Order: sequence, then structure tokens, then C-alpha cells
Amino acid sequence: MESYKYVIIGGGLAGGRASEGIRKVDTEGTTALVTGEHHMPYERPPLSKGYLTGKEGLDHVYLKEEVYYAQNNIEVISGVRATKVDPAARNVTLDDGRVLGYEKLLLATGGHAWRLPIPGHDLPGVFTLRTIEDADGIREAAGAGKRALVMGGSFIGSEVASSLAQLELNVAMVFPDTRLLERIVPEELSTFLQVKYEANGVRILARTKPDRLEGNGKVERVKLDNGETLDVELVVMGVGIRLDTELARDAGLELGEKGAVVVDEYLRTSDPNIYAAGDIAAWPDPTFGKRLRVEHWDVARRQGLRAGRNMAGEEKPYTTLPYFFSDLFDFSFEVWGDLTAWDQTVLRGTLEGGSFALYYFDRGRMVGVLAAGRPDQERKPMQVLVKARPPYEDVAAKLSDEGVDLATLVE
Ligand SMILES: Cc1cc2nc3c(=O)[nH]c(=O)nc-3n(C[C@H](O)[C@H](O)[C@H](O)COP(=O)(O)OP(=O)(O)OC[C@H]3O[C@@H](n4cnc5c(N)ncnc54)[C@H](O)[C@@H]3O)c2cc1C
Repeated sequence: MESYKYVIIGGGLAGGRASEGIRKVDTEGTTALVTGEHHMPYERPPLSKGYLTGKEGLDHVYLKEEVYYAQNNIEVISGVRATKVDPAARNVTLDDGRVLGYEKLLLATGGHAWRLPIPGHDLPGVFTLRTIEDADGIREAAGAGKRALVMGGSFIGSEVASSLAQLELNVAMVFPDTRLLERIVPEELSTFLQVKYEANGVRILARTKPDRLEGNGKVERVKLDNGETLDVELVVMGVGIRLDTELARDAGLELGEKGAVVVDEYLRTSDPNIYAAGDIAAWPDPTFGKRLRVEHWDVARRQGLRAGRNMAGEEKPYTTLPYFFSDLFDFSFEVWGDLTAWDQTVLRGTLEGGSFALYYFDRGRMVGVLAAGRPDQERKPMQVLVKARPPYEDVAAKLSDEGVDLATLVE
């Protein structure tokens, strides 16, 4: 059995950043990173945006050049999956038969794209998007003038539809919700986005589901539940992920909703020698006073780093306000806070003017802000405001008045 001080399972963003975090605190402790993928650690946002459209190469996808891991004595074991964690013996079994001993272990196993199990879901030409290979497959199948169906009206679906339209495909989007990004944005922003999508040639079919995919040896048609049949050359399913937490479950670690791994403020699981970070980790968030789990880039990035540093002995709590971003055609926005539940928004600026912030409230308290094109000096106060979670009646009128300096609201 080979023994390491630190073992990381997962070569996504959280795993990769954890290896960096360990090295910031402990320059010597033996470290192995096990990843089921045949790649150095990488991040996924470019896969639905610049990498998919061909504007960016793999250099925008990998976290570090390969030489970084060698220079920092981080052994990356790629193309190999961990099959078992034994917390009592403190070791991990790999599918190539190796057993790695550890002192501290990180689970950063993320998730895999869900494939809606409708008839024809496994026909060639039907894709999901999670990995570099998935993005390569979609790029290869995509070509100007081809007809694509994108399933899903949340982030992955919206970003893929935008990218495919930019590659000059004829794109239709279907989703069961009543409007684009329904759970995340208010109606006025959905409408604004829908106009943009349609202006770029994307046909949007809300409240619609595909019943079956058909074709002879590859996908050729989609039958929708509204009775319509669409001819297609490719289909991308952007219908969410399933967490890969079987290792944690089988090791007897405490799990929460959707099989998420429950961690404390130090990102430690119910076993003090095992940490978890990224998409799989449900942590106690101090701003909202509840457990959060977020499937976004910034959380994986910061939690990975924090978990690595904590494993190496730094022991600081994870307190960062959740943040994410998205790019849809020429529209980029950022979000701070927790938008899983909200019932009211306040708009500052105008959507048409391209510079606005939507402040979200849930039961009278601020829970987040979505901002696009706002002046730089508002970035900090926005985050301070969300952290302070002021009551709606105290701030709504001032927020909507651009004449009121945001900084005066956070004093
Ligand atoms: C196409 C796409 C675009 C995105 N765009 C954005 C965006 O614009 N903004 C944003 O905020 N977020 C975005 N996200 C979300 C963000 O990328 C994820 O939140 C982030 O990747 C989570 O990182 P992670 O390290 O927790 O998990 P993952 O990235 O899923 O990495 C987990 C890794 O663990 C490996 N693994 C799993 N099980 C095992 C095992 N048993 N043994 C070995 N290895 C294993 C997997 O193969 C994988 O490499 C996007 C996601 C996708 C897929």
C-alpha cells in the first residue's frame, strides 16, 4: 500500500484547487490527486461558452499547466476511479487495484450530467455536457445550418443554446417551465432574455417536453408533447446533474438532501479526517443561517482551496458569500447570495439600458443580488448589503433610486 499525507478524490475545480491549497500551507506533505478523467484538473464554465464556440482553447479550461503538479510534488493519478473509502483503516481503493493510505482525505467528486430517460435518449447525436469530451462531441456534431434541440431552460441549456446559435445552428429550446431561467430570475428578465434569444434565431418552446427522440442509427426527430415533430441533427440535454457521492455513502459519512455530503464550517465531514468540497458539499452558511449546497464555479473554487488549506492544518471556517456568473450571447451577469427561495425583487437601473441590479428578497429580507453592467464601485456595497440582509421596507425605495449612493446604505 502506498501512503500519502493527503489524498484528493476528484480532478474538477474543487479537487484541483485543494491541491493548490495544501501546497500553500504544507510544501512537503505527500499528496495524491485521483481523477476518473484522463485530464489534469480542469474547470467547466468554458465548456458551454468559449470552448464550445471555438473561441477559447484548452488553456482556458485547465487550472494549471501539467508542470505545476510535478514541480509541486502533487501526484496526479488520472483515468483511475476510487471505488472504496475505508475511514477506519484510512485508505482508498482504486479501480486499478491500488490502495492508497491517507492521513487527510478530500472528496471532491462533483456530479455527472443527468440523461432524461425518454425513448431514444441514447441515440448517437444526443449529448449531455459535463466533460471536455462531451464538449468536443457537441462541437464535432455542430455545424452552421444544422438543426439542434436543446432541452432545459436553466443555465446549461441557456448557455448551450446561446453558443450553438453563435455557431449559426438553427436552435430550438424546450423546457417544462413557463419561461427561461424561471427559478432564478423574475419575469421581466426572462422576457428580456427571450427577446434576445429570438432575435438571435433561437425558437423557445416553454411548457413543452419531448416525449421521444427518434432516428435510424442517429437522432433525426423529436416528438414533443404539444404534438409537434421537429427534425434535428443534434440534441443536447441540459437537465441537471446527479451527485457522485456513493463513496461517501458507502463509507458511512453523513449525507443530506440529494445525497449531498454534510460538512461543518471547516468543510470536514462526519469523519474528522475526511473533508468534502464543491458541488457535493452542504455546508452551514453563516449569512443565511442554514445549510447551503451550490453547484457553481466560485463555490467549488473557494471551497476547494479552503478545504486544502484546512487539511494541511490551517483550520479556518468557510464563510464566503455564494457567487456565480453566466454569459448568454452579449449579456453577462453576476449573482451574489442565495436565490433558491425569493418572492420579491427591486430593480435598480434598467434592463434596456444594459446596466441594472435586481435585489432579491424572501419573506421581507434580502437574499441576493443579480447584477449586469453596474459600475465597479457598486460591487463591494452590493455584497455587503446581501451579507447584512436588510428588511425590504428599509431599503427598497433607496435601492430603486439610482440617485442614492449604494455606499450610504451599507454604512
Ligand atoms: C458546461 C458547464 C458550464 C458551467 N458554467 C458555469 C458558470 O458559468 N458559472 C458557474 O458559476 N458555474 C458553472 N458551472 C458549474 C461548475 O462548473 C461546477 O459547479 C463545478 O465544476 C463543480 O466542481 P467540483 O470540483 O465540485 O465537481 P466536478 O467539476 O464535477 O469534478 C468532479 C471530478 O471528480 C471526478 N470523480 C468523481 N467520482 C470519482 C471517483 N470515484 N474517482 C475518481 N474521480 C472521480 C469526476 O470525474 C470529476 O473529474 C458549469 C458547469 C458545467 C458542466
